[in-house]
Amino acid sequence: MSRPLDILVQEMRVITQLRKVAAVLSWDQETHMPANSAKARADQLALIISLAHSRFTGAEFRSSLGLLVDLKTGQVDAASLTADQVRMVEMTWRDWRRAKALPVDFIGKLARLTSEAQGVWQLAREKNRYDLFAPYLERIFEMKRQEADHLGYSGEPYDALLDNYEPDATAAQITALFDRLRPVLVDMVSRIGVDSGNGRTALLEQKFDLDQQWEFGLQVLRDMGYDMSRGRQDRSAHPFTTDFHPSDVRITTRLSETDLPMGLFSSIHEGGHALYEQGLNEAHFGTPLCEPISLGIHESQSRLWENYVARSRAFWSWYFPQLQERFPEQLSGASVDDFYAAINVVSPSLIRAEADEVTYNLHIMVRFDLERALLNKELEVSALPTAWSEKMQSYLGIKPRTDSDGLLQDIHWSLGALGYFPTYTLGNLYGRQIYAAADSQIHDLEGRIAKGDLKTLREWLRENIHIIGRARTAEELLVSLTGEPLSAEPFIAYLEEKYGQLYPQLKKSRPSMVGENNGR
Ligand code: ZN
Repeated sequence: MSRPLDILVQEMRVITQLRKVAAVLSWDQETHMPANSAKARADQLALIISLAHSRFTGAEFRSSLGLLVDLKTGQVDAASLTADQVRMVEMTWRDWRRAKALPVDFIGKLARLTSEAQGVWQLAREKNRYDLFAPYLERIFEMKRQEADHLGYSGEPYDALLDNYEPDATAAQITALFDRLRPVLVDMVSRIGVDSGNGRTALLEQKFDLDQQWEFGLQVLRDMGYDMSRGRQDRSAHPFTTDFHPSDVRITTRLSETDLPMGLFSSIHEGGHALYEQGLNEAHFGTPLCEPISLGIHESQSRLWENYVARSRAFWSWYFPQLQERFPEQLSGASVDDFYAAINVVSPSLIRAEADEVTYNLHIMVRFDLERALLNKELEVSALPTAWSEKMQSYLGIKPRTDSDGLLQDIHWSLGALGYFPTYTLGNLYGRQIYAAADSQIHDLEGRIAKGDLKTLREWLRENIHIIGRARTAEELLVSLTGEPLSAEPFIAYLEEKYGQLYPQLKKSRPSMVGENNGR
């Protein structure tokens, strides 16, 4: 390693360690911290985070970085560096430029606003009082417009915010994808209609012992290759994954006696995230080569396991008999097909987090359209409830009776996480393309899954995605694996195939699409 690169990497490791210390404190806060310790913990977290930030944006880091890259243009002095090292420096510069772009007092002001806004949002949701939250939403969108200006963008302000989560993606690109996907989904939803489950879900509407649920979830996680000697599962109000190092990746889950799928699928979802973090190359710890590519690629790993593996017929042909053994009273009379149909019911619903595979992305489109319109000042905060209802009606054919079941349901806006929602749909689309690539390269993938062999897939993902870190962009990764850039087609084909079997009405072709309003 060249001497200047060596110095830069040492410095990055220190900064990363500080951030990971903060992550340990946050993990503890969400899982084990006593109720009255929040104030002290907030002070500790704020200190560590500001130490990391000032070290990253300080003079010393600047001069180490300046030896390898033109700080103005990002042009790397590639002499004596390998291709991966050049990418490492490019990505570091990119992060550094963004961190430097925001004035310290702006960061402090935004942090105070969003921390206050979270409390107000919680109260507003509980009491169904949008009027309490609206003034905060106004200020948050105003500050995020300023943030976009600080960061810079070539298209529209939304691009600068999206870039925080999905580097290089643009609102125009997301719009094109959504325009392709939306009419297909709206059509499927209207053909399926409101499906109350017709008795199919009765199977799931029983009580399931929590300890047995916990054990079954752990067993699936172990089979997936989640290394319990380098990770653990705890309980929290909202499931999440956090990592302190590839050798210490933690997940949480939430269980309910009356909702077996919730706990199980959230464990598998977080397990998918955790495999990505455990699979990063720890030799590069502290640098972008040991970091995930983007939120969308991260979500592709969780969705791939949750939906494309664990909601498949093959998966349950292996696991259902084992689930029956744990819950003989509840499940002994049911078949694999009964269970498979019950966990794949499609019906429009109000709550994004509980939505099925077909309707889920329509929820994301509602948020994307409104968020973008608010940011561009094409929509007033005061008009949001009406606009929300209209979008829901147009895309999903239903609308909420209360704001709590509508625009107040998600925490993201109170956190200032604008530009975040599209990464969920990107995860679904990337995930499907990646699954298709794995399927074409692994002999009899479905047959393996049906025999409980999940590790072959884990190994493929590790070698082809996890180990790479940010040495490739999302687009480079997709093209190298599939030969194609990001596309909605594999996802559409998957939905049509899978749900065409579950809902025969989807197979019949429509007489004519002319003159129809597809919810655009
Ligand atoms: Zn996720």
